[in-house]
Amino acid sequence: MTKRTRMSKWQFGLAFWRQDGKCSCGCNEELREGETDEEHSVPFYFTGAPPDAIMLRGHHIAKTAKDKGDIAKAKRRAGITGQQARRARNGPKLKSPKRKMQGPQFDKTLTKGFDGKVRKRNE
Ligand SMILES: [Zn+2]
Repeated sequence: MTKRTRMSKWQFGLAFWRQDGKCSCGCNEELREGETDEEHSVPFYFTGAPPDAIMLRGHHIAKTAKDKGDIAKAKRRAGITGQQARRARNGPKLKSPKRKMQGPQFDKTLTKGFDGKVRKRNE
């Protein structure tokens, strides 16, 4: 995956000009100094491109939450995560295969009687 990058001053200015100084989410609010976030209009996961828009921070947080759902869905449909991927990995069982108990087994030739003494079985 490519590394996330930040906007250059030039890119920021261009986006600001393109958006007419307004938030890119469509709310029509003016961008306020110190309250803006650089934004990927298409989530970075899909493009790997640098941020291309500017949003008010609160609106950006809301969009990211929605984007996360879209990314998760894309991963499910690509068979990276989700039930189908889990079944492909583990077979038709619901849970991942269980591991056998570790350590030595009990000595089944011994038994503890009602008198509390340990003795061999069938003696
Ligand atoms: Zn907005």
